[in-house]
Amino acid sequence: MSIFNEYSCDNCGSNEMIEIPNIGLYTDGNPIHVCKKCALVMSRYRRSAEELAKLWDDEYV
Ligand SMILES: [Zn+2]
Repeated sequence: MSIFNEYSCDNCGSNEMIEIPNIGLYTDGNPIHVCKKCALVMSRYRRSAEELAKLWDDEYV
């Protein structure tokens, strides 16, 4: 089971997003998407709040 959730555009709610090619080189392999409708740039696949909390606990406590 994936720990990542897929999100639509934060701004307009569109599901039509384009992944920026080769962006993973700069983001540790995380894909970044551009919304086709409003051009918002965002991370479409995010960990759930729970997973994020775990991650921060591990790294910063
Ligand atoms: Zn949008």
